[in-house]
Amino acid sequence: LTTADLIEEHRICVCVRKRPLNKKELTMKDLDVITIPSKDVVMVHEPKQKVDLTRYLENQTFRFDYAFDDSTTNEMVYRFTARPLVETIFERGMATCFAYGQTGSGKTHTMGGDFSGKNQDCSKGVYALLGMYFSLERQVTCNQCVFDLLNRKAKLRVLEDGKQQVQVVGLQEKEVKCTEDVLKLIEVGNSCRTSGQTSANAHSSRSHAVFQIILRRKGKMHGKFSLIDLAGNERGADTSSADRQTRLEGAEINKSLLALKECIRALGRNKPHTPFRASKLTQVLRDSFIGENSRTCMIATISPGMTSCENTLNTLRYANRVKEF
Ligand code: ADP
Ligand code: MG
Repeated sequence: LTTADLIEEHRICVCVRKRPLNKKELTMKDLDVITIPSKDVVMVHEPKQKVDLTRYLENQTFRFDYAFDDSTTNEMVYRFTARPLVETIFERGMATCFAYGQTGSGKTHTMGGDFSGKNQDCSKGVYALLGMYFSLERQVTCNQCVFDLLNRKAKLRVLEDGKQQVQVVGLQEKEVKCTEDVLKLIEVGNSCRTSGQTSANAHSSRSHAVFQIILRRKGKMHGKFSLIDLAGNERGADTSSADRQTRLEGAEINKSLLALKECIRALGRNKPHTPFRASKLTQVLRDSFIGENSRTCMIATISPGMTSCENTLNTLRYANRVKEF
């Protein structure tokens, strides 16, 4: 069975990607608690302690459409995730690719939105590879909307008319002719996402970035590819934060990630009613959830360290729920 077959069957493909231990984790002597014994299985070996203080490993197994280990390149991930969705938009469809996971687990790296130049592989993330495809084979219009749902600076308004058509007022659409055009737009969007903040990650981890490629024929929308670098899903810290604004943001992110899960599940079940109104994120993505010809791929990114175990398990459970209907 290929990814294309799987997507054809389920309309949804759920993958997990493990990143390598980073320098900080290695220095701290953090343990790698994740194994990927086969190409669709992820195992978590969580260190635990009994009441009598004996230590043991609690092993948990999860199965997905694909499990990518820490040696998998962006190009490989792309080939199994976003690439099979490309045909969809040429067939008047809606394709959506999400990166979901804890802050620092590799969402932006996977999407290829990291322009810090630290990692060369990043230049070949999902954005660039898709851009390459389009520039080589067809010309498309690029609709860039990088926004922060919680950011007061965001000037975009989302309106819904009587016919349930969602409109994002003030959204800029730019025509692209080559991969460089696409990358330039992503870079502009990303620097805007992180501007005015002391720590780039601190800011971007609290926003969802949505990048959409629209294919037009004779001026009419033919298909749309949405690429989403979601806000970090770790929210424990937020709910206990003393800062009211931080707490509110955390609650908002929680709400939108829950809404997203429900919308994807509804898509898989072909349910006529999709609860897209529950958050701005799902509202903006509405047409991707209701179209007859909609395909979705989720890449859940996980950190390998023992210190991230709780967040990793939360990510895997979320991904599991998305997969099961
Ligand atoms: P997130 O967007 O989920 O917060 P990032 O994509 O910014 O996380 O990744 C955090 C750091 O880890 C970055 O420096 C990134 O280059 C590195 N990284 C993430 N995934 C990988 C990977 N699969 N291989 C190598 N480095 C990675
Ligand atoms: Mg990021």
